[in-house]
Amino acid sequence: MRRPLPWRDTSDPYRIWVSEVMLQQTRVVAAVPYYERFTKRFPDVKSLAEAPEQELLACWSGLGYYSRARNLHRSAQIIVEMGGFPENFKKIRSLPGIGDYTAAAIASIAFGLPHAALDGNVLRVLSRLSNDAGDIRARETRERISALASRLLDRKNPGDFNQAMMELGATLCSPKRPQCLLCPVSPECEALAVGRQNQLPVKLRSAQTVRLEYTLLLVRRNGCFLLRQRNADSGNLVGFWEAPCTADLPAARMGREVGRFKHSIMHHEYRVTVRFASVVKCPPGFRWIGAGTLEQLPLTTATKKALKLL
Ligand code: SF4
Repeated sequence: MRRPLPWRDTSDPYRIWVSEVMLQQTRVVAAVPYYERFTKRFPDVKSLAEAPEQELLACWSGLGYYSRARNLHRSAQIIVEMGGFPENFKKIRSLPGIGDYTAAAIASIAFGLPHAALDGNVLRVLSRLSNDAGDIRARETRERISALASRLLDRKNPGDFNQAMMELGATLCSPKRPQCLLCPVSPECEALAVGRQNQLPVKLRSAQTVRLEYTLLLVRRNGCFLLRQRNADSGNLVGFWEAPCTADLPAARMGREVGRFKHSIMHHEYRVTVRFASVVKCPPGFRWIGAGTLEQLPLTTATKKALKLL
């Protein structure tokens, strides 16, 4: 049940790193085209380190969680200064944006080092294999499962072991209705033995989703759109370009509704209405951007979704 993914069959730490960072908050199907485009444009650490940030963000635009791209960029520059990709867990882990899981994945797959990689899929598999009913978000549960992963790890082939575990979680041992009849480790599975596989892992409720609504405005003139580049005062997403919302253009004349979409960030779900609007003159902080150049700019995901409605 090994899926043919473009970052498989490589031991290049750079490519493994890029794929793992992309997959941190993005589903595999969505990540594949981004990965292909990204590694074509930045085929190695050096090309990434030397890239202008705007170009990097444009390549990442749509994947969300842009701190990942900025950390990749900073880490690439550090790796170049180091003289090459670090080859031990501690040094890999010290790079910006790399946590225990990503460091273990790179160390084991690229360098054959014995570190168990624990992502959400692997945590689910192991909680079922050991019939562990602890809250999977609790530190003690994670520590217990992490110790189990280290005990089970195949020290001769840690990269293959980690990938097999990730694959099992991503395919057969799915959150709902795991396919235990096809599972190669079903004889060892303690949750299956007591018929509890559908109840594990236990996940206690987290913070409730906050729902918010706002209206985004598409203001067009002579083949251009009115956009603004976010700066340090905007908080996050510095450097990204965005369409205005109603509060930005109190004097704008509203046009017809273009459509609606939902947009989620962490525990916030935004319900966005998109309308055409017009302004008499370009407001301060905004610029007219030619429609043909939008693809080369890093756009906020909400702005991208709004433009897609056209
Ligand atoms: S037997 Fe079922 S629950 Fe157990 S690891 Fe395999 S797929 Fe998951």
